[in-house]
Amino acid sequence: MKKIVNHLKNSNHIIIASHANPDGDAIGSVIAMGLALDVLNKNTTLYNESPIPSAYSFLPSVERIERQIKETNIYDTAIILDCADFQRIGKVSPVISQIPVIINIDHHITNTGFGNINLIDTSACATAEIIYNLLIEMALPINNIAIATSIYTGILTDTGSFRFSNTNKSAFAICEKMVEAGVDPYNVAQHVYGRYSLGRIKLLNMALESIEISNNGKMSMMTLTKSMLDETGTQPEDIDGLINYAKSIENVKVAVLIHELSNGKGISVKPNHYHVSLRSNGTVDVAAIAGSFGGGGHNKAAGFSIESTLSNIKTQMLNIAVEL
Ligand code: 5GP
Ligand code: MN
Repeated sequence: MKKIVNHLKNSNHIIIASHANPDGDAIGSVIAMGLALDVLNKNTTLYNESPIPSAYSFLPSVERIERQIKETNIYDTAIILDCADFQRIGKVSPVISQIPVIINIDHHITNTGFGNINLIDTSACATAEIIYNLLIEMALPINNIAIATSIYTGILTDTGSFRFSNTNKSAFAICEKMVEAGVDPYNVAQHVYGRYSLGRIKLLNMALESIEISNNGKMSMMTLTKSMLDETGTQPEDIDGLINYAKSIENVKVAVLIHELSNGKGISVKPNHYHVSLRSNGTVDVAAIAGSFGGGGHNKAAGFSIESTLSNIKTQMLNIAVEL
């Protein structure tokens, strides 16, 4: 951590990026880090490849997150947040890799240590927890309401509202401090969980209809195609959280959600290109399963992308189910 503090003090232009299809932790961490560096009068660019899900559009300074990057030769440092591997940034990862110093801050167990400086804490409930600790170490303000809201939202969402197994003592301790700094938990919850479009509810219906259970009952599988998104007028962000229904089924050890990737306009990125999300009840290490397909994540929540047919993916998953 000291190394990062010293390096950032001497940096001038810093790009802060997180993974494509960002969640609350990725977005909250990027904003908190960016706003904190403002205090040090650093030039910063906040970057994410994907549109920001509407649930997070209330976050302060969210409009500063750009989807294009300027020439990389203006940056001396890149801070990569919540990315288990470098490619998770998305299509600009080869461009960002040319920046002289890459700082990798993350909490995923499968993190590849791709940075010149790495700050990986797998016991942290969220990357936002590590950012909080970093800001304390740098004596930067965490009682600023904008920074506090971003950190609070990162921890709230990555712990599934303090329900998931990564929920630790710090989750409560930090969130308490953020509330003391002025964060209104009800207001954040209303934005993040309070409102669903009718389309999302219809998508939920389709997701529930799609559930298949392996013969031994230990694996549940949900499937979402781009035509389902088109029919309900929903976006990939609306898929977030649906897998928890498959996970909560009695006796299920591993839940799988297969979703067809599209560019948001209903057109496939590539034909037969899917993202597979995996969740476990704690008895199976799904990061290892995702890893065997080139992905990664946490023991209980992981994922990977694959080019294959739907039936092929299902067969491969059901072969894993037999061993559970
Ligand atoms: P989900 O698959 O539900 O989007 O993500 C679950 C967890 O797995 C997250 O912590 C996410 O960062 C990780 N994850 C998802 N897809 C990938 C992937 O393709 N590669 C890696 N390394 N991690 C992934
Ligand atoms: Mn995270």
